[in-house]
Amino acid sequence: MLEVHTIDELREALAAERMKGRSIGFVPTMGYFHEGHITLMKEAKKRADTAVVSIFVNPTQFGPNEDLDKYPRDLDRDRSMAQEAGVDILFTPSAEEIYPEGYASYVDVIGITRVLCGKSRPGHFRGVATVVTKLLNIVQPNIALFGEKDWQQLAVIKKLVADLNIDIEIVGMPTVREEDGLAMSSRNIYLAPEERSAALIISKSLKLAQNMVDNGEGDASNILSALRGAIEGEGLVELEYLEICDPESLVPVKEITADTLIAIAARVGAARLIDNALIRPQLENTGDLV
Ligand code: AMP
Repeated sequence: MLEVHTIDELREALAAERMKGRSIGFVPTMGYFHEGHITLMKEAKKRADTAVVSIFVNPTQFGPNEDLDKYPRDLDRDRSMAQEAGVDILFTPSAEEIYPEGYASYVDVIGITRVLCGKSRPGHFRGVATVVTKLLNIVQPNIALFGEKDWQQLAVIKKLVADLNIDIEIVGMPTVREEDGLAMSSRNIYLAPEERSAALIISKSLKLAQNMVDNGEGDASNILSALRGAIEGEGLVELEYLEICDPESLVPVKEITADTLIAIAARVGAARLIDNALIRPQLENTGDLV
């Protein structure tokens, strides 16, 4: 695995790959890898000849009182995990490499960035959209892979790629979970043991929503109040938002008549955790008809 720190070095390495006719798959990350990241890397390697991974804790997507300085980092561990996963090129730029002095250009996707996480983290998706656009321009991959764990982020990236005519296939990958259901996240390291147990209510409540729908409940407000009750019952979990919405437009829906997104953000101790699931409407029972 080749590791490069500058855009020039990366472009040179990528030009050599392209000269050999190799396709490029790209996974942007903030590092501190877990199995969710590794799944994306392995999929990149499956779908393209050369897998490129970036590690960059992007300052522009953190608010002034957020965890930029505390965000977990372990480059040595990440390097060996990436190598193990079959990554060909690891790009680890400095903040100055990405945002040199005088930097002045930002990408703002309007609409879908103003709801869910965008409400509580103003400017977050502007930072995400900007860095992802820059990284896509730098790497110019054939495909780029992102996790559905950050559903809204994936929706924002699909939107900017479509709107700005960026000719790159965007692939979303299912959320990788711990055995007990907790969505893997670099921020899970912040959780004390009792907070880790309490945080399970987040994934459990997503399952509860699907169970309610399977049992005939189609009214979003009934599902929301049942889930709110369950989550508020966990003293250590402070709900930030809980919404049922259209998976693409992220506009709230009242009735579950098609695949619908249920999205949660909550604070548990020092960690801000997000999770989501697509809930399917109750399947029509056609058994009686045959
Ligand atoms: P991050 O390093 O947290 O910025 O994440 C880098 C990429 O990994 C993003 O596309 C995330 O959506 C994805 N990712 C993070 N956690 C998971 C997970 N548990 N399952 C699948 N993908 C994930």
